[in-house]
Amino acid sequence: MHSDFKKDFPGLLLKQLLWAAARASTKEEFVKCMKAIKDVNESAYNWLMAKNTSEWTISYFDDSVKCDMVLNNMCESFNSAILEAKDKDVVMLLEKIRFWLMVRFCKKRESINKWRDGISKQIWDLLEKKKEVAKKYHTNRADAFNFQVTHETDGSFVVDLIALTCTCWKFELNGLPCSHAVAAIWKRGLNVLDYVHDYYKKESFIHAYEVVVQPMPSSGKWTSSSTPPILPPPEYKLPGRPKRSRKREVDEPPAGATKSNRHG
Ligand SMILES: [Zn+2]
Repeated sequence: MHSDFKKDFPGLLLKQLLWAAARASTKEEFVKCMKAIKDVNESAYNWLMAKNTSEWTISYFDDSVKCDMVLNNMCESFNSAILEAKDKDVVMLLEKIRFWLMVRFCKKRESINKWRDGISKQIWDLLEKKKEVAKKYHTNRADAFNFQVTHETDGSFVVDLIALTCTCWKFELNGLPCSHAVAAIWKRGLNVLDYVHDYYKKESFIHAYEVVVQPMPSSGKWTSSSTPPILPPPEYKLPGRPKRSRKREVDEPPAGATKSNRHG
């Protein structure tokens, strides 16, 4: 979306403001970010407001899917995985994807043996970070399940351990207790792991990867079929060497230069 946006509204400041609005986790923060954009360029503001907010800013994401991704890293990973098969015919491309899924599903099933307390290492590490932050809060109870969690500089947040919500919105968005929720859970002497959404649990993971993608012999050993073969589309000779990689925007980092770890 930023690639389209910058054609009409170039410049670093607008780029930074757009990303701040995209990463805003609450509606209040989003309104503030959009006001900053409006102050700089009203047309840019109108351009963005015409877009469906649930498709580009975390603050309006559907919290039933428990995902806060605003980057296309997953598409990039998929693209790089099928890169060497992209210019093969359809059957070979599908065969490459089948092989890749067979190996991946098997590795994923085996990785469960390393899980601790029914959650993956990535989720475990995330929770540990939240626990570190939670130590800095002052937590007060309103009743058995409602808490006001306060930080010296960030102010107060409201956690509801029945509705599983926090006013930072990250609790319901990710399905993992945010640092405020961790503080509230501790205040009640409860177990943080009991507040992790089922999507992250071992049972869900096993269910997602339980299908065994079967091995296959190489294509020369396949049984022949009486149906006509799939023909390739007509060939058009284009000038130069065919491109295999996705065309990147001029300000996009080169392949493999992303900061985040794509593992998992
Ligand atoms: Zn929170």
